[in-house]
Amino acid sequence: MLPTRPPRTTEPNSDQTRIESPHWFDWLEPDSASGRPRDYDHVIVGAGAAGLSLAWALLDHRPQDSILLIDRRSHYVNDRTWCYWNVQRTAFDDLATHAWDRWRVVAPGGGRGGSDWDVTAASKRYRYLRLRAIDVYQRTLGRLSRAENVRLALGRTVESCRDLGDEEGFEVITSLGVARGRRLYLGTGWNDGRGTRTNVELEQGSSGLVQQFVGWRVRLTHPTPVVGFDPTTPILMDFRCDQSCGPHFLYVLPDSERGGLVESTMLLPPGVRVGRERHEQAIRQALAEQWAARADDYEILETEAGRIPMNTQPAPPPVGLERAFAQGRCRRIGLAGGAARPSSGYAFVRIQRQVRALARGLRDPRVAPRKYDFLDTIFLQVLRDHPEQVPTLFTRMFERTQPDALARFLTDASDWGDDLSLILALPKLPFLRAAARSRPIWGPLLSDLVLEYLGMVDDALISRASVNPAGSSSPTGLG
Ligand SMILES: Cc1cc2nc3c(=O)[nH]c(=O)nc-3n(C[C@H](O)[C@H](O)[C@H](O)COP(=O)(O)OP(=O)(O)OC[C@H]3O[C@@H](n4cnc5c(N)ncnc54)[C@H](O)[C@@H]3O)c2cc1C
Repeated sequence: MLPTRPPRTTEPNSDQTRIESPHWFDWLEPDSASGRPRDYDHVIVGAGAAGLSLAWALLDHRPQDSILLIDRRSHYVNDRTWCYWNVQRTAFDDLATHAWDRWRVVAPGGGRGGSDWDVTAASKRYRYLRLRAIDVYQRTLGRLSRAENVRLALGRTVESCRDLGDEEGFEVITSLGVARGRRLYLGTGWNDGRGTRTNVELEQGSSGLVQQFVGWRVRLTHPTPVVGFDPTTPILMDFRCDQSCGPHFLYVLPDSERGGLVESTMLLPPGVRVGRERHEQAIRQALAEQWAARADDYEILETEAGRIPMNTQPAPPPVGLERAFAQGRCRRIGLAGGAARPSSGYAFVRIQRQVRALARGLRDPRVAPRKYDFLDTIFLQVLRDHPEQVPTLFTRMFERTQPDALARFLTDASDWGDDLSLILALPKLPFLRAAARSRPIWGPLLSDLVLEYLGMVDDALISRASVNPAGSSSPTGLG
């Protein structure tokens, strides 16, 4: 029996931070000499993970440039948790509140004698880091607020952006004034986690899936909980929940024995939405069944929610900005800029890579090698073709692939040996069929992929020759 009484709730997401520094807000004042809207080198629309990280990276690489960030939110709260494997360094790793060296995946009924298929993977080299969004916001806002050339305008919704040409730049029209910028970055978030879609076109016509989730951070209040959380091991996927809407799993990040974040995640076809209450029901049920916790036995400390695109096809440029996109004067960033890994939805590390590449002025600021788009296109097709096999597929992948190789693969840092071990771990027939069906999507990637592969072979030859130069007079052996 599930509890019917609503659980007690402390003020959710009450850990707020407000930025009051006055120079952040004077950007709307027109330039006193010309009376025109102020001009900035960079205007960033959306000061979320990508916008703030981009401003941080611009300060590193172009410290003299002026930057304006615009966001419709009025303040920052701890609205999400970011996790990733520390395969590559980011500027925020030291903020991690947890760093686990093991993780678990569970599917019902796939184990011996019909028991659950329960896989725990332990890594020798990598940790699964957990960061609170509020800590990342505080660090970035702290640095940006000290920089005289950075302005942050909160509480302003961007309504439209107009391209005035190479010389003049862009005009950005907000609910409360106008600004001008030479370079424009659109990080308005495909979805801001509060249910408002800001870039609907990214979902429409998509060949992929959408990851929709709701999470509760709970604390068990019973003085002696019957079953505690296991603080040593996060559960990346637990498929022991209702699969009637499609693939559905619970994601559990323990704070301590007394509680943690319990998230209900569904993989849905584009355009399909499932009501929040279905997720909440799944969380309640898991708390009752796995931790013997009824509504009276826990309180909800924080909530989070979101929808992440799982899709290998980039969104078209917004209408009216096509030329600016082609010239690289305007870019999408973050989720809106295709930064989420299509097969998993992980985006945080990719966003860091994307904004660094942009700040360094790279013409093609790719978030990852092309091979991941290729592999993920086929993987997504399998997930769409065989939703009933999703629990088995993921559990098998975690059981049969060496944990370090899988961590590298999920962080876009795998070598061909890692990729091969993953391919060998998965059933061949559904993947071959999916490869045939998704050819129109991955086909156009093929030439890039071959070039990328040749580049890698070249790199490998160069590094081998430089390790053992005896056999050649130049690093490539050609000279
Ligand atoms: C709850 C949650 C948990 C996640 N957990 C992980 C994780 O563990 N690991 C991982 O790798 N990724 C995770 N992600 C995915 C991804 O890392 C985050 O979504 C990340 O915040 C994306 O950054 P972003 O800048 O693209 O979007 P956001 O951080 O959402 O920023 C977009 C900003 O644009 C603003 N905005 C929108 N429209 C307008 C407008 N018209 N005018 C002005 N401002 C506007 C919004 O207010 C918002 O501040 C998670 C996502 C969510 C929602």
